[in-house]
Amino acid sequence: MPSSPSQGEDLRPHSRHVKTALRRANLSGSFVVGKYSFSPYMACRHGCVYCDGRAERYYVEGDFERDIVVRENLPDLLLREIPRLREKGFVSIGSGISDAYQPIEARKRIMERCAEILATQDHPVTIMTKSALALRDLDLWAQVNARSRFMFLVSLTHASDETRQVWEPGASGIDDRLEALRRFKDAGCVTGVLAMPLLPGITDTEENLKALYDRLAEVDVDFIMPNGLTLRPGRQKDHFMSHLARHRSDLVDLYDDLYREDRPSGAPRTSYAGELHPRLAAHNAEVRLPGLVPHRVYRNQLHLYDEVNVLLRHMLELYEARGIDTRPLKTACKRYMTWLETRKAQYNRHRSWRYEDLDAELAALCGVRPASGRGTLPLTSTPATGTLATLLGNEKLAAFVGDVVVKRKTLDYVTLELRPVG
Ligand code: SF4
Repeated sequence: MPSSPSQGEDLRPHSRHVKTALRRANLSGSFVVGKYSFSPYMACRHGCVYCDGRAERYYVEGDFERDIVVRENLPDLLLREIPRLREKGFVSIGSGISDAYQPIEARKRIMERCAEILATQDHPVTIMTKSALALRDLDLWAQVNARSRFMFLVSLTHASDETRQVWEPGASGIDDRLEALRRFKDAGCVTGVLAMPLLPGITDTEENLKALYDRLAEVDVDFIMPNGLTLRPGRQKDHFMSHLARHRSDLVDLYDDLYREDRPSGAPRTSYAGELHPRLAAHNAEVRLPGLVPHRVYRNQLHLYDEVNVLLRHMLELYEARGIDTRPLKTACKRYMTWLETRKAQYNRHRSWRYEDLDAELAALCGVRPASGRGTLPLTSTPATGTLATLLGNEKLAAFVGDVVVKRKTLDYVTLELRPVG
């Protein structure tokens, strides 16, 4: 079993009993569409120099790399909470402020207990990690995948292990992370790479990107999501800049310039993003891999209304990146979101209403009649009336979404063509 370079002998674990395991995730605000999320630890021994978790807004106390909060009772709570969930959706594990498979997990085995629980449920799961320790639980995650879906995400931004040692000293080596991706893929899981944060002048170079994308294509990942670095003013930026001064003093002026605006979000100057994103899109196009989690991954794992929501948002991103006029699409998306938010608020208020019936409402708008014997639609609420074309105010888009909903076609994120296989 490959292990992290640091075994964490110098850790100071702090046991904490939490009141709930699952948080409701924001469907629209993250790279991966998770509906629920949890994290067994807080703070992280991987010690990535750029880690956003150091920022004041996350309230992580003590030494970020050694004072690790351990949520000991999380598996017990998970066992209770999972069967009560009303809406389908991915359980997303890990966060920007801790890695679920960091070295302390080798001793504490909280993730292993969570995986045992999730392997008996029907909820799809996704994990984001920089650790090959996840391979220890591969059999359990393969069981999750057999019941619903397991998506294994690795964060990786560089093709050289020397760079890894400087910027991610406690995380697994590159070969170990690639091997983990290969083995999860062989087990039938969806695999993807978060190629972020790319560091200006270090990992955003053409040389590194080419080598990285080539290696990722070799292990047959399903997608690569790249992005740049944010440096929030305060602890995160100070820590990063002092490390930069020690290891790459030649780049201090460049970073001072890119991050001089000290935006609360930590974003660099807009002109940098304008230069970086087309380069990243070109690398994705070259290896013919999408830069987003394709909506086919979410198929049958989210409710239909959320699957369409994801598809519409992705279409906006994909078309905008190609310079296509998205104004009509934006208007239609807004109309869809208004309908969806209104209906969901009603379903949320009525606990006896079943979200499957909201799916049936959407299907009915697309012209699908209820199966015989199921009575009228929806079963628990007052049905929506009209057609999807009226709802969206856009016939062409309604026909497109109808093909996805009714004929179960999928959008190819590289060619932007509808494919017949779902
Ligand atoms: S692995 Fe993730 S959470 Fe841990 S230090 Fe690195 S960036 Fe932060």
